[in-house]
Amino acid sequence: MTTLATSQAGTAGHDTGANIVHFEHEASIWLQANVSQYWRENRGALSEVEEVKIRGEWDRILYAGGYSGLSIPREYGGQGLGLAHEVAFASAAARAQAPDALGRIGRILTAPTLIEHGTQEQKDKYLNPILSGEHVWCQGFSEPASGSDLANVKTLATKVDGGYLVRGRKTWTSYSAYSHRCLLLVRTDVDAPRYKNLSVFLADMKSPGISLSPIKQISGSQHFSETDFDDVFIPDSDLLGGEGNGWAVAMTILKNERGTVEGAVRYIEIRADMDLLVNCCAKNGEYKELIENLDTRVELVKWQVSKSVARELDQAKFFSATAGLKVIWSDLWKEIANLGIKISCSDHRAHWRHQYLESRSASIYSGTNEIQRNIVAERVLGLPK
Ligand SMILES: Cc1cc2nc3c(=O)[nH]c(=O)nc-3n(C[C@H](O)[C@H](O)[C@H](O)COP(=O)(O)OP(=O)(O)OC[C@H]3O[C@@H](n4cnc5c(N)ncnc54)[C@H](O)[C@@H]3O)c2cc1C
Repeated sequence: MTTLATSQAGTAGHDTGANIVHFEHEASIWLQANVSQYWRENRGALSEVEEVKIRGEWDRILYAGGYSGLSIPREYGGQGLGLAHEVAFASAAARAQAPDALGRIGRILTAPTLIEHGTQEQKDKYLNPILSGEHVWCQGFSEPASGSDLANVKTLATKVDGGYLVRGRKTWTSYSAYSHRCLLLVRTDVDAPRYKNLSVFLADMKSPGISLSPIKQISGSQHFSETDFDDVFIPDSDLLGGEGNGWAVAMTILKNERGTVEGAVRYIEIRADMDLLVNCCAKNGEYKELIENLDTRVELVKWQVSKSVARELDQAKFFSATAGLKVIWSDLWKEIANLGIKISCSDHRAHWRHQYLESRSASIYSGTNEIQRNIVAERVLGLPK
């Protein structure tokens, strides 16, 4: 069997092809038994409250089943496996139409960043609750006047005895209302040069002085907010990677946000939408050529993800293989949803309406596609600025 993780020659380290095939097979059996039929039939047409509840439960089911934190070391509650196992699991999850974890920001962004930049105390304190589904995290990067230009954030942390006082406004903070902690990018020095003046904090979302103003999306969902910090105290122990080192920490976070595991998780959702289109909504054969084209491109997302796994040990090649992923999957998802809303069967109109509206934002969040194309042009293709 050729799997998502082994379809490219030469998987990294201990992740031999035979191990991965066996792992993916076992994961498929487990997923068939654990993904609820209710989710499969109604995903994309659920109320936000119900969706959040199912996804939060899924976090805990994953942990109990031993499928949380596959590439996180065992000492922190993970499985101590590799990237290829993460990707193999995503492949099996795509076939099973599994839910997306509510704790995805904690798992995909916070956990690897803690491992790279965190103190032992921070790793001990935060990794296990992320993996067990106990703690949901959000990301406080964007501000009303700086989204793409993150080096220009204005939220200020001022040093006080034992910690910092944070004042400012973040926006588009996804899942803030459900979050226990926030990866917070702030300015800690008003005089230092650009890129040397930032720090990242592991902020407690229940701290006095944090207030949320929900923002309603066009899809009807209200999962993000403006997030105000009014002299919020954050202890020194929750500074991640040292004062003034925020740009390096933020780059680690963004690398993971646009990387292989995220690409594999996105493949799960896009594959499920494509299957719905092919197996149900497109039954009459019209648009055959377009559907075949889209279906092939969904598999190319999978191919590109597995290509990056095969290049995991070579930083430059790994970066080249992952840099375009976000543009590929987000544009494709929009095209699939465009067709879905056009040819939906009567049973799936609500689903396609939701996916159509929701997919509009995919080329904006995690860094806009224009910015990502600039990165590919300059850093992968070596084109002039
Ligand atoms: C659904 C959703 C969820 C989000 N969740 C979060 C979250 O949880 N946490 C968080 O911090 N943020 C979140 N965001 C914010 C997101 O990261 C920003 O919207 C995004 O980075 C763009 O920033 P901006 O909106 O300020 O647009 P701007 O940066 O003002 O950009 C406006 C337009 O100009 C273009 N542009 C800007 N600079 C350049 C350039 N140098 N070259 C070419 N084109 C350029 C952009 O591509 C865009 O089309 C979310 C956004 C959405 C839509």
